[in-house]
Amino acid sequence: MRMDSENDISRLPQDTSNVPAGTFPPSKRLTRRDMIRYGVAGVACVAGGCAVAAYLIDAVRELTAEGVFKGDAPNDAVWELWRQRGWTHEGSYYLKLGRNVQCKICPNNCLMEPGDRSHCRNKINRDGTLYTLAFANPCSFHVDPVEKKPLFHFFPGSLSFSIATAGCVFRCLNCQNWEISQKKPEETKDPRGPELRLRPPVTGTITASDVARLSMFPEDVVALAAWTKSVSISYTYSEPTAYYEYTYETCKLARERGIKNVLVTCGSMEEPPMRDLGRYLDAAHVDLKGFSESIYWTLNAGRLQPVLKTLRTLKDMGVWFEIINLVVPTYTDNPDMIRRMCDWLAANIGPDHPIHFSRFHPQHKLQTLPPTPVEILLQAQSIARAAGLRYAYIGNVPGLPNAETTFCPNCKRAVIIRDIYTITGFHLDAGKCRFCQTKIAGVWS
Ligand code: SF4
Repeated sequence: MRMDSENDISRLPQDTSNVPAGTFPPSKRLTRRDMIRYGVAGVACVAGGCAVAAYLIDAVRELTAEGVFKGDAPNDAVWELWRQRGWTHEGSYYLKLGRNVQCKICPNNCLMEPGDRSHCRNKINRDGTLYTLAFANPCSFHVDPVEKKPLFHFFPGSLSFSIATAGCVFRCLNCQNWEISQKKPEETKDPRGPELRLRPPVTGTITASDVARLSMFPEDVVALAAWTKSVSISYTYSEPTAYYEYTYETCKLARERGIKNVLVTCGSMEEPPMRDLGRYLDAAHVDLKGFSESIYWTLNAGRLQPVLKTLRTLKDMGVWFEIINLVVPTYTDNPDMIRRMCDWLAANIGPDHPIHFSRFHPQHKLQTLPPTPVEILLQAQSIARAAGLRYAYIGNVPGLPNAETTFCPNCKRAVIIRDIYTITGFHLDAGKCRFCQTKIAGVWS
């Protein structure tokens, strides 16, 4: 089985010339209700005090972030093709409001009339029922080292069968995977032609058109993970919050088969679905994009507080997690902000959850920014250590000495040495430092 970059959906020969890929804010036809709300916000800004104005600006921002794609659900013919393939599934965590529906998976809380498509592009209101179009139809799948997530304190050196569908709840200007995250499922998959279901044993080469056509139901994902000797399944690359139902059903089956579940997420999920899914999670990797609401809005079209709440929820549930912070020049490289973030983590999450400061490289809509200077990353690492965080790493800087080495917080000896995704030194016994027997936080076996 070939599962490499050639399977990446960006190579699919599809016409995306009319796609509003990566558009921000999302295309949205204002309703009369929207106009009234905008109008109220505008009047109040003039007449009211700063506090009132700020509150209303926030409300308008939220309204824009919640924007759905009006009337963009697939037509009957396309819907029928998807339904027959098993690529549709009723949504979970949503409200029926007459013929309208409101998704409650993430804080966008998309409110959809019949025929509308969600902000994440994956959900539609079809005749008063919420459906996801991102089910059993991954557009990308690979077998990765778990270090690539990155997770450093979770079964080091193991493989993780990794999947993604189209769609995302955010609009990050620097997205590395915008070719799938900022697409509709119909732009990454094509159900026409004979059915192709990927199950082990897989022989021969998987072509790009196979990837577009193939189905991978939850039981197939679990079987493929076992067949590839993967310790875990990672829900990753785009955003599993946007393909929650597929993630949830697969997690449940994987748990039954003794395969671990890893959520690689932006963390912007409502608490009830997070707690429900958390019962089946073994680890999470949460992208904490900064420590400022305004930066979150500007850079990601998201909000900080829901992400902090997710971190607290995972902590409360005992799910192992690590945090990544991409240090983007002029956006998230402010030392004071990094200090406040690390202080918050130390006070609210504790010192044992690793933080990975990752180097930005020009991507997507931030092509003109330079890569993050290494000195800034080293400064961030020092700030984290000064705040009391025991495991602070630097990622995306090949060759930087000890950037990804785990040091014992007691004796300061190197206990795990890594070379990109390879473990080159391992000095733990049963999760303890071999030199001084101090317990190293993580899930080791
Ligand atoms: S998961 Fe998607 S449909 Fe649901 S609220 Fe979030 S953006 Fe909207």
